[in-house]
Amino acid sequence: MTSTTDLYPILLQPHKTLSAAAEDAPGATPATLAILEKMLATVYRADGVGLAAPQVNVSQRLFVMDIGQVREDGKRDYSLKSPKFYINPKIIWSSDVTVSHQEGCLSLPGLWGDVVRPAQVTVAYIDRDGQLVEETVDGLESVCVQHEIDHLDGILFTQRLSKLRRDIALGKWAKLRKDIVKNGAEFDVLAQEAGIIPARKK
Ligand SMILES: [Zn+2]
Repeated sequence: MTSTTDLYPILLQPHKTLSAAAEDAPGATPATLAILEKMLATVYRADGVGLAAPQVNVSQRLFVMDIGQVREDGKRDYSLKSPKFYINPKIIWSSDVTVSHQEGCLSLPGLWGDVVRPAQVTVAYIDRDGQLVEETVDGLESVCVQHEIDHLDGILFTQRLSKLRRDIALGKWAKLRKDIVKNGAEFDVLAQEAGIIPARKK
C-alpha cells in the first residue's frame, strides 16, 4: 500500500502551472527519476493512464504513461502494467491523417471531450536509462503522448475542442469543479490533503 506522502496532489484547472510552458528537465538524473516514480504512483492511485509534471506543480518537461497491454483476444488490459517515463519528449513527425478520440484529464476530473489529433506521431525522448529513444506510435498511445506533451506546453485538451464544444465543456467543468470543491470526491483526497480543495464535510 502506497502512503499518501509518497504521492503528489494533482492540480485542478485553473492553475498557473497548468497553463505555463514547462522547462527542460536535466535528464535521467536520480532527482528526475524520483519525481517520475512519485508521479507514476500518483497516476496509479488516481486510476489514470498518463500524468504530466505540470499537473503536480512541477514545471519540467516530464510525463509518465501506462496504457496497459493488449491481450491475445485484442482487448486492452490496464492491469498488465507497462509504465513508461518520458524525459524532454518532443514530437518530431505527425501524420496528416487525423483521428477523433474521447479524452479526459486528471486536472479536469469527470469532464470528457472528443479531440481531433494526428493519428500517428513520432516522439523523441530520453527514457529512464538515459537513452535517447525515437518511437512512432498510433492508437491510444499516440493520443496519450500528444495529450501529455500538450500539458508541457501549457495546453489542456479543452483548448483543442471547437469553440462551441469548448464553451459547453467549460460550462460543465465550472459546475463539476464547484461540486468537487463543495463535496470532495474520492479521487480528490490528495488535493484535499494538500489544501487545494477542502475536505469532504461529514
Ligand atoms: Zn491531462
